[in-house]
Amino acid sequence: MEEQWAGLDPETIAVLAGRPHGSGAPVNQPPVFSSIFHPGDGYDYAREGNPSWESFEETIGALEGGHALAFSAGMAAVASVLGTLPPDSLVVAPEVAYVGSRLYLQRLSDEGRIRVRFVDVADTEATVAALDDAALLWLESPTNPMMTIADIATLCSQAHSRGIPVVVDNTFATPLLQRPLDLGADVVVHSASKYISGHSDVVMGVTVTRDAGWRNRLHARRTSGGGIPGPMETFLALRGLRTLPLRIERAQQNAEELARRLEDHPQVERVLYPGLDSSPGHELARKQMRGPGAMLSFLVKGGGSEAEAVCERARVIGHLTSLGGVETTMERRARYEGEEGIPKNLLRLSVGIENVEDLWHDLSQALRS
Ligand SMILES: *Cc1c(COP(=O)(O)O)cnc(C)c1O
Repeated sequence: MEEQWAGLDPETIAVLAGRPHGSGAPVNQPPVFSSIFHPGDGYDYAREGNPSWESFEETIGALEGGHALAFSAGMAAVASVLGTLPPDSLVVAPEVAYVGSRLYLQRLSDEGRIRVRFVDVADTEATVAALDDAALLWLESPTNPMMTIADIATLCSQAHSRGIPVVVDNTFATPLLQRPLDLGADVVVHSASKYISGHSDVVMGVTVTRDAGWRNRLHARRTSGGGIPGPMETFLALRGLRTLPLRIERAQQNAEELARRLEDHPQVERVLYPGLDSSPGHELARKQMRGPGAMLSFLVKGGGSEAEAVCERARVIGHLTSLGGVETTMERRARYEGEEGIPKNLLRLSVGIENVEDLWHDLSQALRS
């Protein structure tokens, strides 16, 4: 699978991979709405496999450089990876990260199924020191919503020298900007609900790995656990994925511009964006990412209510959760349960592909004191 795409840029692979071929074949894999298949062609019951998933999986697999499995949600992918761990395993995980993953780890720990040690994964030394006795290192980079950067290559080699596998949640960067398997990760997980599908119309997840053991364990968990995607969802996700290179390019340009302007704004205390020289993860991000991406956070002068008021005053930018869609969304993460450690005046911005002057005009009118 790798060889077929050798020498081609991911921007090309995103467009060309996973297409049916042969005389009379459709250019796009249509969704197959059938729960059962006539025997003989490798399909049987659709919980075990559905041709609808495969084009999507082939494309993501080619982009990340591994074997992909599609799941019903990002959290089904996360849960499947964690579900492969033996009881009482110790997981080292980011203290600040996607709240759903953190709360799920905490729940498993509260239930006595696994143990969790939360660390600042941007602090390489502290993370390595925490690896003692661990069964798995869970990374996210950039982290949600503090936009810190973990040194993926160093942490993978340190973990591997202790026999510990590493999982990287690559949702914020996408395979266009970061390829964790090349940096040494054993498994990549994504919420395909975000940039990969890109239009806020799908909930789906995916895992990617080069390791046959992981691949088989995850496949078995998906089949027996039932966290499978629907045929229509995989169709939509792949349709969205085709334009990921264009969307990321434009959204990232917009984000870089907004980050610079926000940094100079009198009502803004601080901007967290790996594309800014002022960001602590800037150099590392340049090294391990192809670009800083389109997610940024900023701290509004004042407190939580001042930040909330900025969201309320925005007209073009949606005061909405989630991220990675063509539309720009903004929210105050600290208002959520489980996000108590996040600064109260922090707003997370998922920058979309709109005209940047319209976005800036909206932000600056919303930021007025
Ligand atoms: C949204 C998200 C998830 C969870 O994915 P769902 O598709 O919502 O289940 C996991 N990790 C990150 C970084 C996310 O943003």
